[in-house]
Amino acid sequence: MIRAKEYDMDRFDRSKRIDWVNIDKIGRARCLVVGAGALGNEAVKCLVLSGFRDITIADNDSVVTSNLNRCVFFRGSDVKEGMKSDILAMRASELDHEVTITPRRTLAQDIGDWDEFSMILGCVDNISARLHVNAHACYHRIPYVDGGTDGMYGKVQVVLPDGPCLQCSMNRSHYGIAETRFSCTGNGSVFYVPKMAAEITTTSAIAAMQIREAVKIASGREDICIRNAAFYDGMSGETIVLEIKKDDRCANHEEE
Ligand SMILES: [Zn+2]
Repeated sequence: MIRAKEYDMDRFDRSKRIDWVNIDKIGRARCLVVGAGALGNEAVKCLVLSGFRDITIADNDSVVTSNLNRCVFFRGSDVKEGMKSDILAMRASELDHEVTITPRRTLAQDIGDWDEFSMILGCVDNISARLHVNAHACYHRIPYVDGGTDGMYGKVQVVLPDGPCLQCSMNRSHYGIAETRFSCTGNGSVFYVPKMAAEITTTSAIAAMQIREAVKIASGREDICIRNAAFYDGMSGETIVLEIKKDDRCANHEEE
């Protein structure tokens, strides 16, 4: 039998070998995850495994059978009875008993104490919730990492205090092509189609990209974050990053 080395006794030994990762700072971050669906499941999994220790999950929905193709923490026995936020908090806590995960049965619109959080992960599936979270993130100057998927396509946008926000990137003509191609970015009525295509490989990729940005932010390395939106094409495997200009007419920056 090979005896475990001392470094193998440290859960985060391999994370610490990435020189810019600051596991102590990550442990002190207070994360709000808005949405406990497909992206929320993957995001919380990655947060816990990355060393985040204080996670709040907001979602007011219950588990349905069609969630089960992409939500690693949900079971068939959860359908109908189980609230997504409660189940995600309970099962993700099993990954690491040092983590505190607090579920809230609430809509994004009803989150009142934004100042309690040092970081927000957007894992919602509709534009109104997305823009609501974006506005609060800007107002309270909290870093916000938004994720969205549509079938084999996805997007991750990093919103930092003083930087461009989700709303800045909307209605700008040079984003027309990207927004048509990547419909989750919010151009036109595709946001309001109630049931979009969704599967685990895209969900997993996008949530992983979101939490990688969260690790950078929590480590104090906003300088190496995505500037500002990454578009992922799961068919070709390509990811393109587009810098978004801050829009002076955007309502979220009026007070600055
Ligand atoms: Zn803006």
